[in-house]
Amino acid sequence: MRFKRMTVCLDMRGCPERCRHCWLGSRPNGRMEREELVWAAEEFRPFAESLEVFDWYREPDFSDSYRELWDLRCALSGHVTPHFDLASVWRLARDGSYAPWLRELGVETVQLTVFGGEAMTDRWTGRRGAYRDILRSIDVLLENGIAPRIQTFLNRETAEGLPQVEALVRELESRTGGRPACFVHQGSCDGENEKNYPIWPTPEELEKIPPLLAEETLRHFGAERLEDVFGQTESALYEALADSGETASYVESEPVFYVDGSFDVYPNVTAPSPWWRLGNWKRDGAEAVLENYRESRSFAQRARLTVPVGELVRAYGDPESRRLFGRDDYIELMLARYCREHWEGGAS
Ligand code: SF4
Repeated sequence: MRFKRMTVCLDMRGCPERCRHCWLGSRPNGRMEREELVWAAEEFRPFAESLEVFDWYREPDFSDSYRELWDLRCALSGHVTPHFDLASVWRLARDGSYAPWLRELGVETVQLTVFGGEAMTDRWTGRRGAYRDILRSIDVLLENGIAPRIQTFLNRETAEGLPQVEALVRELESRTGGRPACFVHQGSCDGENEKNYPIWPTPEELEKIPPLLAEETLRHFGAERLEDVFGQTESALYEALADSGETASYVESEPVFYVDGSFDVYPNVTAPSPWWRLGNWKRDGAEAVLENYRESRSFAQRARLTVPVGELVRAYGDPESRRLFGRDDYIELMLARYCREHWEGGAS
C-alpha cells in the first residue's frame, strides 16, 4: 500500500530554545548531515505517490546551511509546501541575509512568541537574551516588509505578563500605522507544556486577557467567544466523556512523520514520546516503520484504538478541575497519562 502523500521531517539541527510551553518536548539537538535527508527521501519515496521532506521540525532554518537544505528538500520532494510563517528568531537576530531570503521565498508574515516583558519571555523561552532577539527580529522583519504576528500562551503565570504583550502590540501599531495580528491561547497540554498542568488556565484567566488581545484573538481564530478558542472546563469534559466508548485510529492517508536525531520515527500527532515511537528507520528500514504506523503498532496508537475514552478519562481526569481544554487535546492528555503509566518500553 502506498500513501497518497507523505511528509517526513528530520530534526537535523534541533532548536536553540528550550521553551516551557513547547509541545514537541525538550530533547538534545541532533546533528544530521545532508546525505541523511537524501537517504530519507530515497527510503520513504517508494511508499507514497508524492513525498515531501523537511530538514527540520523544531526551529526552521536553524542550520547554517539553511539555504542549501531548503534547495535540497525542494529538489527531493514531489510536492513542496511554501515556507511556513515560522522562522528562526535566533537567525533573524544574527544573519542579515536571512529575512531578505524569506521575503524572496514569498513569506509575508512571521509568527513570534512573547510572554510579557524581557524577564518572563527569557524564562519561558528558556534562554537569556531571547526577548532581545525577538525585538531585534521584529525590527528586521519590518525592514524587509514582513509582518510580525505576535503569539502568547496563557496560563496562571503568564497571565500576569499580558499587559506587556498588549503594550508591545500597541507600540508596533503606532510604529507601523497598522495593528499587527496577535493572539492568545493555551497551546496543547503535551510535551513541555504538559508540565504546566498545575498552572493551566481556567475561566478566571480569560478575564485577565486585555480587550485588545481578546478582540484580536477572536479575529485570529474566527471565533465569537473566547470559550470557543480555549475550550471547556475539565469538569465539563469529564462529564461529557466519562461514559464514552469511543476509540480512534490515528492512521491517515496523508501522514506526517517526525524523525528525531537518533532516527527514531514518530507520527505527527502530539509530542514524540517513546510510546509513539514507530521504530528506527536506519535499523528497521522505512517499510517496517510505515507498517507499524499502518497497523497502529506504536503503544499509543494501540492504546487509543483499544481503550475507550471513558476509561481514560475516569482513570486520569479530574472531575472538579476548571482548567480549559479543547476536546481532542484533552483526550490526548488522558492518553499520555495512560501511556506513561502502562508503557514498558520496546512495545513498538
Ligand atoms: S516551541 Fe519552538 S522554539 Fe520553542 S523549544 Fe519548541 S521548537 Fe524550539
